[in-house]
Amino acid sequence: MQKISFNLVEKNANVEIPENLIFGKVFSPHMFEMTYDESKGGWIDPQITKVDELALSPAAMVFHYGQAIFEGLKAFKQVDGKIAMFRPKDNFKRLNNSAERLCMPKVDSDFALEALKELVAVDKEWIPNRPGYSLYIRPVMFSTDPVLGVRPSDTYKLYFLLSPVGPYYPEGFKPVPILATDKYIRAAAKGVGACKCAGNYAASLLAQKEAKQQGFSQVLWLDSIEQKYIEEVGTMNIFIQFKNEVVTPMLTGSILPGVTRMSVIQILKDWGYNMNERNVSIAEVVSAYDSGDLVEIFGTGTAAVISSLSKLKYHEKLMTFNENEAGELGKKLYAEITGIQYGKIPDRYGWLTFLDNV
Ligand SMILES: *Cc1c(COP(=O)(O)O)cnc(C)c1O
Repeated sequence: MQKISFNLVEKNANVEIPENLIFGKVFSPHMFEMTYDESKGGWIDPQITKVDELALSPAAMVFHYGQAIFEGLKAFKQVDGKIAMFRPKDNFKRLNNSAERLCMPKVDSDFALEALKELVAVDKEWIPNRPGYSLYIRPVMFSTDPVLGVRPSDTYKLYFLLSPVGPYYPEGFKPVPILATDKYIRAAAKGVGACKCAGNYAASLLAQKEAKQQGFSQVLWLDSIEQKYIEEVGTMNIFIQFKNEVVTPMLTGSILPGVTRMSVIQILKDWGYNMNERNVSIAEVVSAYDSGDLVEIFGTGTAAVISSLSKLKYHEKLMTFNENEAGELGKKLYAEITGIQYGKIPDRYGWLTFLDNV
């Protein structure tokens, strides 16, 4: 395993994490970074260093051809003081899947995990110690060859940023109104929808903006071919609870395989729910709503964990669920997953990775 060099800023005795943390605006002082250089045999120069401005050529390939991927996961200070990360190996596996699809170099997952543990240990005082708070971890990789011309870059940069975050819904677990769109799609079949690549988010902004203008907080995305099947909600996976079945869209290649999605599927199966991954059309949801067969809908993702829908609008049809309160199943799942993350419920699936000696 390569040796990580440490280039730390002077230790600040008392870390002051701001009270009102806005998601993703505050960063810890250190990051892990390493460089990929094909001509030097691969990944080199791993270091934990100060978070600082980057110097990049204006010709750097990432600005022109968009080889950029990222991940999102969290570390928690648990009730007994231990520090745990939630399923980090799954995030590195997904990072490597994204890398492969975009002709970017893979990282050694074991090394990446060790590097991340070292980084979190260096900045462990930046993990807030309040209920609902955590340390959001953002791994990023992008191409850096200063060359115009469409081909895979020979050089890349990888870094991990740490951001202390508060609860996603500071006023409590609040359901959100969603607009189903067939005017735009998020990701095309056989494209890069299953990758966490930067371009997917740029492509989703206009739909998001138009939904906001109409008073909705997110978009519900339909499939790229017929705009018939439900895919995702905003940047979350979606679950629909019918009276006798819970459904999440099957992974067709244009859906991001969420770690939270995977966790929710497993928990629901263990709780004895009839949990299925299959195609589910927007027409099926409307008809279940009309017949009283629809119970609740929620999104899943690392940032919010569970996000219940208050309303869903599709064309002229407005469906309302839980006006002011999240649905029962969503609340139960939120309590279960965060309970495991904060060490209040035993980690029966082995989802947590603990920092050694911290
Ligand atoms: C990150 C992301 C998710 C959720 O994935 P998690 O691993 O659960 O955080 C879902 N959909 C999209 C489009 C995403 O980018």
